[in-house]
Amino acid sequence: METKTMNIKVEKAKTSKIGQVDFDNLAFGNVFTDHMLVSNYKNGSWGVPEIVPYQPITLDPSAKIFHYGQSIFEGMKAYKDEKDAIWLFRPMDNCRRLNISAKRMAIPEIPEDYFMEGLKALLKLEKDWIPQTPGSSLYIRPFIFASGNGFHASPADEYMFIIAFAPSGAYFSGKVKVLIEEKYSRSANGGVGFAKAGGNYAGQFYPTQLAVDKGYNQVIWTDDNTHEYIEEAGAMNIFVRINDTLLTAPTSDRILDGITRKSILKIAENKGIAVEERKIAVSELIEAAKDGSLKEMFGAGTAAVISPISTFGFRDVDYDLPETPNSYAALFKKRITDIQYNRAEDNFGWRFKV
Ligand code: PMP
Repeated sequence: METKTMNIKVEKAKTSKIGQVDFDNLAFGNVFTDHMLVSNYKNGSWGVPEIVPYQPITLDPSAKIFHYGQSIFEGMKAYKDEKDAIWLFRPMDNCRRLNISAKRMAIPEIPEDYFMEGLKALLKLEKDWIPQTPGSSLYIRPFIFASGNGFHASPADEYMFIIAFAPSGAYFSGKVKVLIEEKYSRSANGGVGFAKAGGNYAGQFYPTQLAVDKGYNQVIWTDDNTHEYIEEAGAMNIFVRINDTLLTAPTSDRILDGITRKSILKIAENKGIAVEERKIAVSELIEAAKDGSLKEMFGAGTAAVISPISTFGFRDVDYDLPETPNSYAALFKKRITDIQYNRAEDNFGWRFKV
C-alpha cells in the first residue's frame, strides 16, 4: 500500500539509550526507544506529525483525559528479518480500528497518512531498536488522548496523537491459567467494549487482581447479561477446540475485533479446519472438559501472540486442559509468526514492508 510522502520534521535525541538495553532479556513494554512521533489536534485539525526525543508530557491539571478518560490506543509490532528488513503485520487494520475507537469516544479521527507515514518514519529512525532475538519484537503503541482543558463534562477541543515504541519480549511466560468471571463485566451492549478505550482496561484491573490473588493469570469475561457465555480475555480473544472444531465468540459491541483473531479464522479456513463463530456456553466448556472432547483453549492477540491456556477455573473448580499433540495453537502460532518475521510465503497479503 502506498501513502503519499510528507515532510515529517525530526528533532534528534542528543544521546541514545540503546547501549543500556539488554536485548537478550527484554520484559514487555518497559523500555522505550529514543524518539516518539507527536501530532497535536488544535482548532479543528491535526497538525503534521513530528518526531521528537522521547520525553514526558506537560498537561494542565484540567486536561480532560484526567477527568473524563477520553483516551484510546492501539497495539502493534514491528519485526526484523534475517536480512534486516523491517515488517509490519496488517498495519492498516490498526489504523482503521484506532479511528473506530476514536469515533465512539468522541475523539477526532487521525488521517490514515499521518498514522502510516508517521509510523514508517519513526520505524526507520529507530530500526536498530527492533530486536532480532527469537520471540522478541518492537511493540508499537499509537495512542490519542484529550489534552484540551476544562472541567466541563464534554469532549475536549485539543488532543495529542503519539506513537511510542518498546522493544519487548514475551507477554506471558509459560502457559496461562484463566478464571471465568461471572460477577464483574468488561463491557455491555451499546457500550465501548469494541473500542480500545483506556477505561476498558482500568475497569478490568480490580477483578483481574482478585483472580491473580487466587493464582490465575487472567480473567475470561462472560456476557454481561447472563454470564453464561465466554467472550474474551483482558487483552486477547479466546479460542476453544472441541474435538477438531475451532470455536470463538462472534465480535459484537462487547468484544474487540482482534487482528490476530481474524487472521486465525482465515488461516483455519485456508487449512480446512472446521470453524464456528458462535456463543460458547460455560456449561458446554465444562461438559467438554469432563468428557475429554475439550482439546485446547488459547488466547490470541498482538502482545500475547498465541498463548495456550493450561487451566480454566469456574466457581472454585479448576479444569485442566490436556496436552494435545499437533495443537492448533502451535500451528497458528507458527503460521502467523512465519509471516510476521518473513520466514514464509504470505499468501494473504498481510505482511507490510517498511
Ligand atoms: N481483546 C482485547 C480486549 C485486546 O485488548 C486485544 C489486544 N489488542 C485483543 C483482544 C487482541 O487484538 P489484536 O489481535 O488486534 O491484538
